[in-house]
Amino acid sequence: MIYLDNNATTAVAPEVYEAMQPYLSKYFGNPSSPHALGRHMKHAVEDARIEVASLIGAADPKEIVFTSCGSESDNWAIRGVLATRPDKKHVVTTLVEHEAVRNVCHQLEKEGYDVTWLGVDGNGELDLEELRNALRADTALVSIMLANNETGVLFPMREIGHIVRERSGAVFHVDGVQAVGKVPIELKSCNVDLFALSGHKLHAPQGVGALYVRSGVELPSFILGGKQEEGRRAGTLAVPNIVGLGAACSLARIDGDHTLIESLRNQLEDGILEGISNAHLNGIADRTKRLPNTSSISFEHVDGQSILAHLDDKGICVSTGSACHSSSHTASPTLKAMNVPYSMAQGSIRFSVGRYNTEEEIETTLDVLPKIISKLVEMSPTAK
Ligand code: PLP
Repeated sequence: MIYLDNNATTAVAPEVYEAMQPYLSKYFGNPSSPHALGRHMKHAVEDARIEVASLIGAADPKEIVFTSCGSESDNWAIRGVLATRPDKKHVVTTLVEHEAVRNVCHQLEKEGYDVTWLGVDGNGELDLEELRNALRADTALVSIMLANNETGVLFPMREIGHIVRERSGAVFHVDGVQAVGKVPIELKSCNVDLFALSGHKLHAPQGVGALYVRSGVELPSFILGGKQEEGRRAGTLAVPNIVGLGAACSLARIDGDHTLIESLRNQLEDGILEGISNAHLNGIADRTKRLPNTSSISFEHVDGQSILAHLDDKGICVSTGSACHSSSHTASPTLKAMNVPYSMAQGSIRFSVGRYNTEEEIETTLDVLPKIISKLVEMSPTAK
């Protein structure tokens, strides 16, 4: 099988699996227990916290709170900020956020909040002047992702943080789920207050995430119960998964394999764009402004679901836009916001390369894909 869907989820790395093993067998205590077994678990959690903090450049490991996933981190960040600022009813976000942010903001609108939805241009980039103009005295929160899950386009987090700080008293939340482990991040030198990440996007298991909460930022607990995580998030900690996240962060930090991933992505992207005449890149062509592993490509007049099915038949896993859209046939909101015409948006495929892909796999894909596309173009009623 050729797995080119690493933005949907990633394989657990052998190093991560190995680190987790003892915590699924030998060590099983509750990290809140004061006895030896509990203390051992607590120690493992604190080691993982240091690894996460280190990967994202937090000033203090205490700024990391473990959660169950990226969606929980995003939901908690948004809801938590608004709960502390009942007098401020304005939120700024973008049209291209992941559902974990977008759907919360839609819900907020139903609850009476005023949400400003920043658009993007044809390259998937934000207009920072639009952001400047959107900030108001009653803006409680600005929630803008670091990297788009579908196109891989990076937003200038440092610059955005600067504008938010300079122009408003709003809290700045960043959905960093797709960026962590793929690009360098140094939160202590950015004006970011809250930053969400998810383990399964960087070779940790599914079911663990974290929220960075800058020291001094008030954020009430989302889940009420015990006093875990210093009263910030109730619930017995998922120690094996947390250990896995720590190991994955350590792996991402010490491993300089991004150049390889990037060269494989470039080989794939160039091969498709040069070899298939109805293929068009979604997102800015300048690769320094995109994640090193992602290519979103539209095949005009062809249905993305059919491409996916044909590739699947050949053992190649990709995604049509974000995985969450795979069961719906509407064009993805990200491509819609970029004004990608329907005839192209409908045929969009997200290729996301990972650390276990090889040059040979990319060559196989480049051999198989053109044949699939030309067959589908022949069958297409609109491709005339
Ligand atoms: N934010 C972004 C940008 C994502 O890509 C995803 C998952 O695809 C999420 C949030 C949600 O993360 P999780 O699957 O861990 O809930």
